[in-house]
Amino acid sequence: MELMQALRRLADVDDEWDDKGRRFQQARSRLSDVATLETRRGEQRSRQEELAARRRRLHDLELELEGLQERARQVEADLYGGGVLAPRELENLRRDGESLKRRMDQLEDQALELMEQVEMLGASVEEGAAELASFERDWSEETASVREEYTTLRSRLEELKAERDMLRAAIPRRELALYDELRRSKGGRPLAPMVDRVCQICRVSVPTHKATIAEGGGDTVATCEGCGRILYLA
Ligand SMILES: [Zn+2]
Repeated sequence: MELMQALRRLADVDDEWDDKGRRFQQARSRLSDVATLETRRGEQRSRQEELAARRRRLHDLELELEGLQERARQVEADLYGGGVLAPRELENLRRDGESLKRRMDQLEDQALELMEQVEMLGASVEEGAAELASFERDWSEETASVREEYTTLRSRLEELKAERDMLRAAIPRRELALYDELRRSKGGRPLAPMVDRVCQICRVSVPTHKATIAEGGGDTVATCEGCGRILYLA
């Protein structure tokens, strides 16, 4: 392959390499970024655990209330059943009844409050489950398409690398060093097209001896007097 042709092809390969290499890195990091999904799953788990805890607490309260109600019924039965007649015992029973009533009122207030919380949490768990399901659906669709892109990019990058190695091996060391240096210093554009002996990037005229080299397709290269890029005949 002729030198100039090899350099132009190398510039194209390098451009594609940079672009696809960047996209490959992005695809790879998206595939490995499961943190978002894990966070969302964790949030939903906490909501469920919180709901379960309040439900258990409510259940315990209800059991306690039932026990108290049973005792209150017993106290009442003793109080009005006529079996207990001693005034002191009756007074004690009455006090027991009152204290049971106070405790039950407290528990009922707590139970009501818990019921409200359970209802609210239940709604938020339901909502969270729907959101998570939809997020997981999108996630797996996106992951599938990113995975496909990742595979395609990887195989293209392998091809590019092989071609790049081949081209670099074919270009003499001096020209290759110049190309690399220009690619670094000229914003990734080491080559400049020449039309009518004028550099199309910086618009500076090309002297005859350099134009001849650029047109000639020989084994050496000419650089622009203005921008310093390697000139080729467009
Ligand atoms: Zn120039």
